[in-house]
Amino acid sequence: MRYAVLGTGIVGRTLAAKLSGLGHETVVGTRDPEVTLARTEPDGYGNPPFAHWQAGHPAVRLTPFAEASGRADTVINTTAGAASLEVLSAAGADNLAGKVLVDIANPLDFSAGMPPSLDPVNTDSLGERIQRAFPRARVVKTLNTMNCAVMVDPSRVAGEHEVFVSGDDADAKKQVEEMLLSFGWPPASIVDLGDITTARGTEMLLPLWLRLWGALGHGDFNFHIAGARPGA
Ligand code: NAP
Repeated sequence: MRYAVLGTGIVGRTLAAKLSGLGHETVVGTRDPEVTLARTEPDGYGNPPFAHWQAGHPAVRLTPFAEASGRADTVINTTAGAASLEVLSAAGADNLAGKVLVDIANPLDFSAGMPPSLDPVNTDSLGERIQRAFPRARVVKTLNTMNCAVMVDPSRVAGEHEVFVSGDDADAKKQVEEMLLSFGWPPASIVDLGDITTARGTEMLLPLWLRLWGALGHGDFNFHIAGARPGA
């Protein structure tokens, strides 16, 4: 599989390292590779500059968003939620057409400081906005309800815990479920919530996730849904 991971932050790096390690041809997308590689300061979250990460992952190429998306079978959005629509426009609607577009971003709005609020929220979601803006892409929202280290290594959290999947295209969700299985998610831990409007619910878990992070002092936790499942 050829993956384009759009985003050079900690989530993009974590997903790209995992996919490349699993043997997939993986490209990371950014606005301007030269600018990104020339950064010498840690990013806003204290992560080392991208060039530092790239030195340890020479198999992963860095290209502009459009080039990364054009060559990929599957595109993964790991950009800041406020910038995601702009990034995907730069990637190009034609480069996304017919492809599975995995959306991991959250619509965090830091304009009024910490903690962030959500925009959109309640009657809309970033996942839906992306699907509306790119109707030929097959958007699947997933993995946005946990820390990125847990996304690619669910064993970091002891016991049963879940990953949610939202999207309109059943085949696209099936493909994403296969990716999740390859990351180590047990089949029973993958909860298909339904169509892309269900992304409202998972995005609205973020205010709770952020408060739990503050209360627990670490990110190695996740949500567990107790109770019977249909078909179980
Ligand atoms: P981030 O700092 O939120 O985003 C970095 C990426 O966004 C970069 O690739 C950057 O492009 C792009 N970007 C930022 N502003 C832009 C703008 N104005 N125009 C175009 N592109 C812009 O990265 P992150 O911390 O890795 O988070 C990525 C996403 O995952 C976010 O939506 C976050 O809410 C979500 N998420 C994070 C976690 C976690 O564990 N941190 C967990 C779940 C979900 P350049 O490469 O060109 O600089």
